[in-house]
Amino acid sequence: MRVGIGHDTHRLGALRPLILGGLRIDYPKGLHGHSDADVVLHALTDAMLGAAGLGDIGDAYPDTDPIYKDADSAVFVRETIVKLNQKGYRVVNVDVTIFAQEPKLGTIKGRMREHLAAMLGLETDAVNVKAKTGEKVGSIGRGEAIGCQVAVLIDACV
Ligand code: MG
Repeated sequence: MRVGIGHDTHRLGALRPLILGGLRIDYPKGLHGHSDADVVLHALTDAMLGAAGLGDIGDAYPDTDPIYKDADSAVFVRETIVKLNQKGYRVVNVDVTIFAQEPKLGTIKGRMREHLAAMLGLETDAVNVKAKTGEKVGSIGRGEAIGCQVAVLIDACV
């Protein structure tokens, strides 16, 4: 078994849809970024790459590459799963923590959990989604950014 951790933060305030964990969230502001700026899927991708010893998302999917402009970040997750499988690993479980002062994510966590589990080919029980505010402190607390941390356990496929 191997463990990986991923973290990401993006600036909030773009005139584009807010995408978190592959879901379009009903909110008037989106996240700035080269791709769709989904901090959850970016942190998840980095956690999986880290667990497998495969570097980081910036190496794998450079934000200077026009092919990833406005890209659906589910592509990064799906491709990383393939890379893990090619190295003989599978994902065991995933624990996600989202840091957002706004919007409130309490009613979205359950749907995101199921969506991430489906994306990863896992039982819902193997994915956990937590949401925290920034306690109105710092850039996240002022609503200037949204962050995410993800821990992933992988093991060797038999
Ligand atoms: Mg990112």
